[in-house]
Amino acid sequence: MRTIDDLGELRGRRVLVRSDLNVPIDGQRITDDGRIRASVPTIRTLTERGARVIVVAHLGRPKGEPDPRYLLRPVAARLSELLGAPVAFAEDTVGPSARATTAALGDGAVALLENVRFNAGETSKDDLARGAFADQLASLADVFVSDGFGAVHRKHASVYDVAARLPAAAGGLVLAEVSVLRRLTADPARPYAVVLGGAKVSDKLGVIESLLGIADRILVGGGMAFTFLAAAGHAVGRSLLEADQVDTVRGYLAEAGRRGVTIMLPTDVLVAAQVSAGVESRVVPVGEIGPEDIGVDIGPASAAAFAAALTSARTVFWNGPMGVFEIPDFAAGTRAVAQALTQVAGLTVVGGGDSAAAVRQLGFPDTAFGHISTGGGASLEYLEGRTLPGLTVLED
Ligand code: ADP
Ligand code: MG
Repeated sequence: MRTIDDLGELRGRRVLVRSDLNVPIDGQRITDDGRIRASVPTIRTLTERGARVIVVAHLGRPKGEPDPRYLLRPVAARLSELLGAPVAFAEDTVGPSARATTAALGDGAVALLENVRFNAGETSKDDLARGAFADQLASLADVFVSDGFGAVHRKHASVYDVAARLPAAAGGLVLAEVSVLRRLTADPARPYAVVLGGAKVSDKLGVIESLLGIADRILVGGGMAFTFLAAAGHAVGRSLLEADQVDTVRGYLAEAGRRGVTIMLPTDVLVAAQVSAGVESRVVPVGEIGPEDIGVDIGPASAAAFAAALTSARTVFWNGPMGVFEIPDFAAGTRAVAQALTQVAGLTVVGGGDSAAAVRQLGFPDTAFGHISTGGGASLEYLEGRTLPGLTVLED
């Protein structure tokens, strides 16, 4: 992949940087600024070289038009604090405000454009519509730096099309993420354990098929576990379930058996009648989940078994919390897995927006893990061996 050094002299040049600033926000308050922090080094590298830096990013999932829930202004403020320098904010992405703001940038100054997903062209499946929007973005700058690792699996205008329209290079964050993930796919130290959980079950099932060819142990918790428990013949009550995936999962379980890969499922779960703070909850064996029960965390026996399977591993990749960790009563399984990772003698990687937020919220320092990836979907697709459009477009 081309790097910033391949872009030549940057002083006075307008550099469009695609960052991943998609942080969790509660009203105006950023609850985990990890992705903003991770974006700072590349932006600083560029300002130190005298570039005029124009940052483009998305927040949440607006539907191609402005949405007051997803304004990037609070992110601009936090970015400015972390950079220790002003960040000019454009009230639109490619409109009059963006043009005026970027035209006024001096050497070494930074601007942030409003949420790129407020523009329908950004995510359009129509190459022409996306290309037309990419033309507008490209017209703001002289060169492009792709640093939003969390979005490189998306064929979006600000990730993919703009890179084909300007001299383009990978930023430091993208390079760092890829170099760690490469270590997970090429000859990982064994045993290699993968922990999967979280709520985006159908997005994540695909990775299991490819992991069966490389991992030694696959531990399944979180919302994802219930589709597996259903495939293993258990009732799951009102827990998260992808009913149309049960047969596929049954196939994975059989394939794992043939290949000698261990798939570990919870043997007990914490259930509640509602997913909210303060409700009563109880631990049940997976064979005894009642029709009204909702599984909200793995149980203590499962947490202990998962921890043992992880601490004896030499490589661990973890994506997806083990339970609804946002509610402290339902966070024990996630905490046990995080704790186990800190004791692994080998490479540990935590991937995924919510997983990274979980370990920080539970008080673990970033340094307790080998690498905290800013990308959930992107890192999973990389591990699946899929081509990521935002990476291939940066290759020579
Ligand atoms: P990541 O962002 O790390 O890739 P996901 O987005 O897939 O992870 O899932 C994170 C969400 O999964 C969290 O908000 C958490 O509350 C939720 N979750 C975990 N376990 C369960 C469960 N048993 N039922 C419902 N949601 C769950
Ligand atoms: Mg998530």
